[in-house]
Formats: sequence, C-alpha cells, structure tokens
Amino acid sequence: MKDAILILNSGSSSIKFGLYDGDHASLPLIGHGQIEGIGSTPRLYAEDRHNAPIIDKSLEEGCSHGQAMAALVEWGRTREAARDITAVGHRVVHGGNLFSGPVRVDERVLGELDKLNPLAPLHQPHNLAGIRSLAALEPDLIQVACFDTAFHCQLPKVAKQFALPPRLYEDGVRRYGFHGLSYEYMAEILPSIIGERTAAGRVVVAHLGNGASMCALKEGRSIATTMGFTALDGLPMGTRCGNLDPGVVLYLQSEWGMSSAEVAELLYHQSGLLGMSGISNDMRELLASDAQSAKEAIALYVYRINRELGALTAILGGLDAFVFTAGIGEHAAPIRARVCELASWAGIRLDEKANEAHGPRITTEDSAVPVWVVPTDEEWMIARHTQAIVHQAH
Ligand code: ADP
Repeated sequence: MKDAILILNSGSSSIKFGLYDGDHASLPLIGHGQIEGIGSTPRLYAEDRHNAPIIDKSLEEGCSHGQAMAALVEWGRTREAARDITAVGHRVVHGGNLFSGPVRVDERVLGELDKLNPLAPLHQPHNLAGIRSLAALEPDLIQVACFDTAFHCQLPKVAKQFALPPRLYEDGVRRYGFHGLSYEYMAEILPSIIGERTAAGRVVVAHLGNGASMCALKEGRSIATTMGFTALDGLPMGTRCGNLDPGVVLYLQSEWGMSSAEVAELLYHQSGLLGMSGISNDMRELLASDAQSAKEAIALYVYRINRELGALTAILGGLDAFVFTAGIGEHAAPIRARVCELASWAGIRLDEKANEAHGPRITTEDSAVPVWVVPTDEEWMIARHTQAIVHQAH
C-alpha cells in the first residue's frame, strides 16, 4: 500500500481536506474536497487534481465531527484510493508565542492550544475539536498542527508591539499575524514565478479570501502584516470589520449596553462586506449588484487595500512586486483593477487584458512595479510540514 498524507481544515460545520501522495517528495495532490453539513445532513465530496469528481456521497444523518473524520480516513484507505494514511496535518489558526513552527500533537500540546481559543474563537475551537475526535478514533496516527501565526514569528519586535504597557506584551497581547501558511507558500513559490531577484527583494502579498490580510516580505521573510492579536485586525473582510478604533468597542459597551459577546458577534459575523452592503459577504454578489451599499462596500475595501499597500511599502522602504492571492485576489479582476488604479502612486500600470485573463503578470512592461496573480496553496504547505515531521519521527 502506498503512503498518503491527509490534510484537514476543520470549521464549525464543514471539514475541508486534501490527500497527498507521500511517496513523492513533491507531494502531488491525489484528491481534495469537503464534508459539509456536519450536525445536519452531511455530504462527502471529493475531486481529483484535475477537478474531476471522485466521490459524492451522503453520510449518516446527524453524524458528529469525529464520525465525519473517520469517514474521511476510511475513504483515504479504500481500495480505489489504495492509500495508507501515515499522518494527518491540521490547519490550526493560532500558535500563540509558544509555537513558531509545526508540531506533533499530543495531550500536552492540545492543552496549550486550548488556552488560545479566546484569541481565535471563530476557528481555533473547531480546529482542536477535529484533532481530538480523530485522536480518540485513531490514537496511533501521527497528527501535526500547522499554525497560521508561525510564519510571522520572526516579525521585528516593533512590528509586534502595541503602544500599551509592556506587561501586556509579556502576557501575550501582541501582533501575531495570520494567513502565515499562505505567505510561507508564496515565499517558496514566488522565486520560480516572479524571478529570484525580485522575490528576494521587497514584496507585498495581498491574501484576499473570506478572511483578508496583507504581508510585507523582505528576502522571503515576513516583516510586517495587517492582522494583529486576532484575525479581526487590518483589512475589511467578508464578515469581519478589520482595523477599527477601539473607542468604538468602548462606546458600544457603555452607550449601547452591548455585552462583549454581542460586540464579538457584530465584529466577527455582521461587519465587513456583509455588514456594509447588507447584501452578502461574497464579492461576486457585490460586484453583480447595483445597490449603492454594495458599491460603497467595494469602495471601502479597495481604499483600505491601497492604504495598507502604502503603509507596508513604507516599512519595506520601497516595492519590487505586488502579488494578489486567495479567492478574491485570484478571481476578482475588477477588484484588482480598482486596487491597481488607486496604486498609480507607486507607478503601477495595469494591463487590462492580462488582468481579465488572471495574469500571472497583470501590469504593462512600463509599470514601475510588476503586479502578479499567484494562486495560494495552504494545504500543500501543511502536507509538506506534516511529511517533514513524519520523517523526523522515523
Ligand atoms: P477562504 O478564506 O474561506 O479560504 P477563499 O480564499 O476561497 O476563502 O475566498 C472566498 C471568497 O472569494 C468568496 O467569498 C468570494 O467573495 C471570492 N470569490 C471567489 N471567486 C470569485 C470571483 N470569480 N469573483 C469575485 N470573487 C470571488
């Protein structure tokens, strides 16, 4: 039987997964998909690397996270896939200041990670529940946690500090940054796409998905990023507000009498593109809408990207390349066009045709800074880390 590495990204009602061929150093993708509707009417769906469907089946009604995971491992081991799963790699959003790289998970590690739940309440508890339920079913399986924060661990102290008394920093109240697996993947892949010299220079990457952030890379390392202590900071997102005067939170609590849970619900789930437009958190719907509120949400979104581009360029001391990635960055040509138009201050000149074709390079020859569209692959990055830990264990 051949070896495979399973990658899991557990959310509240869904598990996204990828299965990678562990017999090859390049870890080719075997299949990827998701289980949706956990807790109600779950369905397992997977495609091969060419996006041809390989499985689409309903799971037992009301099945738990653990049972859904078991169905996945079982699927990976089925004869048609003919794979033995040697390890499972999990995307875990927060590693705090304890974990600066991937780690093999045991009870002690889980205990440490539990303490970080309040820092990422949307994701962390689900990530950890996934690991626990799988450990209960398959205690001997190697499980590896890969953190969204780890790549930013080397941020200079000044980029991590808030202007608060130092005891808060010591207590862990600092900028961690997120989407680290995406930026780490970019740091790996960019030399082969944008050229080694440019990639070794000053690069800003905009990861624009449901969550959104930007990162300044110097010589392939993160030196500044827009997300902070939690994944609420920085750019406006699908349903999160991004950067916000903390005075607004105080006002909502003291004058509107909102509890912290109500404020959290507002800032995490009812803000951003959805909150502003009152229509949707999906950029496709906003781009298709004639509503004034949708136009305003998009205008603020691109305004804030341009503003952060300016700030990150200042920190880098110049800009050698700008890269778009993730759902909106890879697919929403009108958003890229609007951002590039606003970024004419940097000498950026859009090539409209190339932009419509999604690049990879979307600027003209005479653009002072080249702009690129580069698909991210956080799952592959997790597979790579997981395989490295398996090798260490043997
Ligand atoms: P996640 O952060 O959940 O991984 P993705 O990176 O997949 O999210 O990005 C999802 C978002 O990408 C969707 O909410 C949608 O707004 C946006 N998106 C995907 N395809 C398109 C498209 N063709 N045009 C505009 N936006 C798109």
